[in-house]
Amino acid sequence: GNESRLKAIYEITNTAPIEAKMTEPLNKIWASDVFGLRQMEESLSKAAFKAIKKTVETGAELDSATADVVAAAMKDWAMSKGAKFFSHIFYPMTNATAEKHDGFIVTNSDGAAITEFTGSLLIKGEPDGSSFPNGSLRMTNAARGYTAWDPTSPAYIMHTANGAVLTIPSVFISWTGEALDKKIPLLRSNAAMNAAAQKVLSLMGETDIATLNSSCGAEQEYFLIDENFANARPDLLLTGRTLFGAPSPKGQQFDDHYFGAIPERVQVFMQDFEDKLYRLGIPAKTHHNEVAPGQFEIAPYFESANIAADHQQLLMTVLKNTAKKHGFLCLLHEKPFAGVNGSGKHVNWSVGNSTQGNLLDPGNTPNENLDFLLFCGAVIRGVHKFGPLLRAVIATASNDHRLGANEAPPAILSVYLGDQLEKVFNDIKTGALHVPSDGGTMDLGLSQILKFKRDPGDRNRTSPFAFTGNRFEFRAVGSQQSVSGPLIAMNTMLADSLEWIAAKLKAELDGGAETPAAVFAVIKEIMESHGNVVFGGDGYSAEWHKMAAEERGLKNLPTSAEALPVLKSPEVVELFSSTGVLSPVELASRFEVYAEQYVLAIEVEAKLVVEMATTMIYPAAVSYLSTLGSVNAKLINSPADAVTNAANAMMASVDKLTTAIEKEEFNSTEAHLSFLAGDVCGLMLEVRAAADALEGLVPDSVWPLPKYREMLFIK
Ligand code: ADP
Ligand code: MG
Repeated sequence: GNESRLKAIYEITNTAPIEAKMTEPLNKIWASDVFGLRQMEESLSKAAFKAIKKTVETGAELDSATADVVAAAMKDWAMSKGAKFFSHIFYPMTNATAEKHDGFIVTNSDGAAITEFTGSLLIKGEPDGSSFPNGSLRMTNAARGYTAWDPTSPAYIMHTANGAVLTIPSVFISWTGEALDKKIPLLRSNAAMNAAAQKVLSLMGETDIATLNSSCGAEQEYFLIDENFANARPDLLLTGRTLFGAPSPKGQQFDDHYFGAIPERVQVFMQDFEDKLYRLGIPAKTHHNEVAPGQFEIAPYFESANIAADHQQLLMTVLKNTAKKHGFLCLLHEKPFAGVNGSGKHVNWSVGNSTQGNLLDPGNTPNENLDFLLFCGAVIRGVHKFGPLLRAVIATASNDHRLGANEAPPAILSVYLGDQLEKVFNDIKTGALHVPSDGGTMDLGLSQILKFKRDPGDRNRTSPFAFTGNRFEFRAVGSQQSVSGPLIAMNTMLADSLEWIAAKLKAELDGGAETPAAVFAVIKEIMESHGNVVFGGDGYSAEWHKMAAEERGLKNLPTSAEALPVLKSPEVVELFSSTGVLSPVELASRFEVYAEQYVLAIEVEAKLVVEMATTMIYPAAVSYLSTLGSVNAKLINSPADAVTNAANAMMASVDKLTTAIEKEEFNSTEAHLSFLAGDVCGLMLEVRAAADALEGLVPDSVWPLPKYREMLFIK
């Protein structure tokens, strides 16, 4: 029956919202739960502070004496904040965050409790991580994985309902030294990018070049649904999305939610959420309603990629936990509701250092403009050469629902530069823009040109990879994904391009070219070989799909089944091994893990489709039919016929789906993936079509599942 659905509506409409309370001023709470340099300076000797500061800022190794002192200070600080436990937190190859808690406590021989936390405990933990998917990287004889503190990412206190845990950001590495996580390759990709960028900048005549780092600012979209509804929807609880549900008569067509007033209950939640982020040193900057009803966005200010990635994982955890406290289920799934906009994560990315600044910012002098053109050209070359890789690193079962649907960037990777910058690149290609032969100064005036472009009206929202004034924005990333995978791919493709540019630039300069002419020669060649990836038109249009395939030679990989095998292609294996970011073995294990995640996700959904259709939807139809009795015979348009037909069609599809799920024999992982992406996903849609038809036929009073209009609009 519909009891749980009606009860949900009753509960929601009769519960008083959590009182808004005045929050503490920002300077009181900012980073108050973080053991950063400020806290270290307060509690360490000058010598010890100098040593740890050097490690934090340059990644230099930490000697064991300093580690002991830092550990002791960290423990005292954490215990003063109520922590009795510590945990090494790490980021396995799935998009999850993992941790294991250990007490500070040890007892001495007379049974008294003392606390202990040494440098070696801080630096190295040994979790029993053997059940994390590792894509056969760890055979059982070497099944131990180690976590090791990443001192460049500060430790912090995670508050729980009745306690506090000192949390230590860590890498996760196998006994034999292979990366089992997403942090190690991210750090390596930064190093590879830095090494190549140093070469290019030296050739450009720069003499004082600080270490380059990548930066990331991620915009996070999410839905909030009252948890009373969620509890009546097994699909939301188990898979994060609705596997059934007819469209609401009112959806997002009025666009009245976008940038509209934030509902009060949500505002109270956001304030609480953001205060928690501030305590953790996460610079929450903007929040607003998103396009779909019930959808919102939070964007912190950008930070260095490694810290941004850790903070992004933490943000998702805090988001879900805080929502729960406010009676919401936070949905990070890319497509919780069919026919309503999905959620993405826009990954804003740039590279720079303290001496040259942001290399993707055109700057104010011709020289800075030339550096900018080279780095921008490197990105163009990278996206063209490794577009399929960028597609592969955002390939998940859930993101497939979003890519390619006309609401999100297409699964074809192209670069948007904006009219004016595109013209600069094309003019260099055709020779229309050239270095004056009389040796006069060239006036590129790029910052003037591009400032104009920052007008949001000029933004192309249909591009998966857009230049937005001083950074690139990778928009096709999934909302529940870690940002690390995309950052690793972008940094690594950039490293590859900058290596190529360094070699080409050196050859030009050795051949006697002046720097501006040498840069133009490099850009010209990039545009000739890779300019096909630059596209400023409507990425949603059918013409673009045709043009991309037929004229531009760009790949369209609509599903994960097509995208994931890219990780095994020779050019991708070569990219990662030549840059030292992932060995062939490490890369192969990633394909296995991502493929396994895909299989598990689809299998859970398929089983649940069968179960919900059989045990919830079919009985609702039958119970309605049983009430019609003799009335039905007197009606001209018999509702019984329509309901019977839809119910029979649904159960016939359920039978086919049940058989499909049982298939176990596949020649390869690839064959298994395509079977799931094609047959199984197709059958799930077939069941759903019949079920959604029934939703329109069976009386509201007996329908068991909360409806779209209820979940999206009742708050
Ligand atoms: P929009 O919605 O217009 O794309 P937002 O202001 O919501 O913009 O988000 C932009 C994100 O990009 C923020 O996280 C911001 O800090 C980040 N960002 C800004 N400049 C850079 C940069 N140079 N490198 C990386 N990220 C940046
Ligand atoms: Mg954006």
